[in-house]
Amino acid sequence: KMFNEIQELKGNIRVFCRIRPFLTGKKETHSVIEDIGENDLVVENPSKGKDALRSFKFNKIFGPSVTQGDVYSDIQPFVRSVLDGYNVCMFAYGQTGSGKTYTMTGPSGATNENLGVNYRALNDLFRISTSRAGFTGYEIWVQMVEIYNEQVRDFFFFSGFLDLHTLGILTQSQSNGIAVPDASMFPVKSPSDVIKLMDIGLKNRAIGATAMNERSSRSHSVVSIHVRGKDFRSGSTLHGNLHLVDLAGSERVDRSEVTGDRLREAQHINKSLSALGDVIFALSQKSSHVPYRNSKLTQLLQNSLGGQAKTLMFVQINSDASSYSETLSTLKFAERVS
Ligand code: ADP
Ligand code: MG
Repeated sequence: KMFNEIQELKGNIRVFCRIRPFLTGKKETHSVIEDIGENDLVVENPSKGKDALRSFKFNKIFGPSVTQGDVYSDIQPFVRSVLDGYNVCMFAYGQTGSGKTYTMTGPSGATNENLGVNYRALNDLFRISTSRAGFTGYEIWVQMVEIYNEQVRDFFFFSGFLDLHTLGILTQSQSNGIAVPDASMFPVKSPSDVIKLMDIGLKNRAIGATAMNERSSRSHSVVSIHVRGKDFRSGSTLHGNLHLVDLAGSERVDRSEVTGDRLREAQHINKSLSALGDVIFALSQKSSHVPYRNSKLTQLLQNSLGGQAKTLMFVQINSDASSYSETLSTLKFAERVS
């Protein structure tokens, strides 16, 4: 059964749309979502009423009441396939406040019920690898980096930047998929290691955010999980990578209103998100030229985008009427690559 599941998913780019619920205590009252189906969604332009409906089709729609557990059970086959040697990439795309971090990590102070994909995936990999310990010996390693203004920073080693441009990107065959070999890499040997590592990384992310004015929404954060498995009988080894990416906010910045650092950040975000869109689009078209080299993000993820790799994008939506234009541009971005 496992094998069929994998065959079915192979080579596919999946787009899952998640609509976050309205938050209590916020002035969110009018949803632009007219209808939610299993895999389609109808949105209404709030200033034009019923005459301006648009529908979008994705692989799956997660409505506001869908839980973290429900989301994870739908993506679990992707995570598990990493133990069979696949490379998998999962992104959360959307404007700031749309629930990207909630999906990937969970809310701050998460309980077991609302932990996000990062924790669940790591725990699952650890649990399954343990259950296979009789015939395959697995090692699981974790890196956590941030890409900010086209520079890469190590979340486990909070001092300055590693410049991928200077370091160079290693290819799959050179490095078993470890694109940033100089970023710290820690082994996961127990479920409590998972919690400890994530806490350190997230704490460092938060420190960066305060010091640099909410930078977390303007940088991409990447958790990379590297798996090495050794088959005891044949002696052969396999390598799989899982990249979990909480992207920078996709909101457009009004160029007439920002200058200096803010403008530079906006330009970098814009450039890297369009580079990502172009890569996924080229892959979805089965194009012979895939433009990986246009951003650090796509360079870092190159080994896990295309080929036999599996790509999954969470398209995050804040359905409030005040976010309509960002919602529409998010949906159009996703529509292009799905
Ligand atoms: P982003 O990372 O896209 O900026 P967040 O993940 O920080 O957005 O979400 C914004 C707020 O909405 C947070 O307070 C978060 O806890 C809450 N939130 C997002 N998605 C959900 C959800 N599915 N259920 C409950 N609360 C959510
Ligand atoms: Mg966030």
